[in-house]
Amino acid sequence: MKIFAVGLNYASHNKEMERMFEQKDPVLFMKPDSALLKDGKPFFLPDFSDEVHYEAELVVRINRLGKNIQERFAHRYYSDVTIGIDFTARDLQRKQKEQGLPWEIAKGFDSSAAIGTFVPKDELGDITRIGFHLDLNGETVQEGNTEEMIWPVDKIISYISRFFTLKIGDIIFTGTPAGVGPVKINDHLQGYIEERKLLDFNVK
Ligand code: MG
Repeated sequence: MKIFAVGLNYASHNKEMERMFEQKDPVLFMKPDSALLKDGKPFFLPDFSDEVHYEAELVVRINRLGKNIQERFAHRYYSDVTIGIDFTARDLQRKQKEQGLPWEIAKGFDSSAAIGTFVPKDELGDITRIGFHLDLNGETVQEGNTEEMIWPVDKIISYISRFFTLKIGDIIFTGTPAGVGPVKINDHLQGYIEERKLLDFNVK
């Protein structure tokens, strides 16, 4: 399976990252399958970074094979969604960006793609208007709504499928709203879509 992620998809986050340029297409990157962290397993802080950030994101799972999917048909290619964390070694990312180098080591390391329990999108109503939030040690640190996305889910799927054949089980992180920040040992992360808690794990 493949893990795709979209960067800079919420104006509020782009502002905090000081990345306010106009981008015609989604900013796309990938993580290897070894990045997957699920079933509430703990996230172990890696030794190569002093600044690992959480980025809470809506995650969708592809349910059929697709290539060159038109945006108007994209909704047929995923039925389940959850909330996930796109863990980012911000110090490494900054260094890679400064040097114009690829940022895989900052974004695709082991356990950097945490996902919660998937739920059928039909249970959530209009996918273009669903709220989600992340609590860190019981306090809400990120709040977003998919209506704030610069590139909506269907557009993202269509874009990805121009370059990559989408297969059953592939997952897509769809970008983070404002409020990203560092994690430390013993932090407790809980992610919600609307009021449903779908993600719950600890940092060790
Ligand atoms: Mg992200």
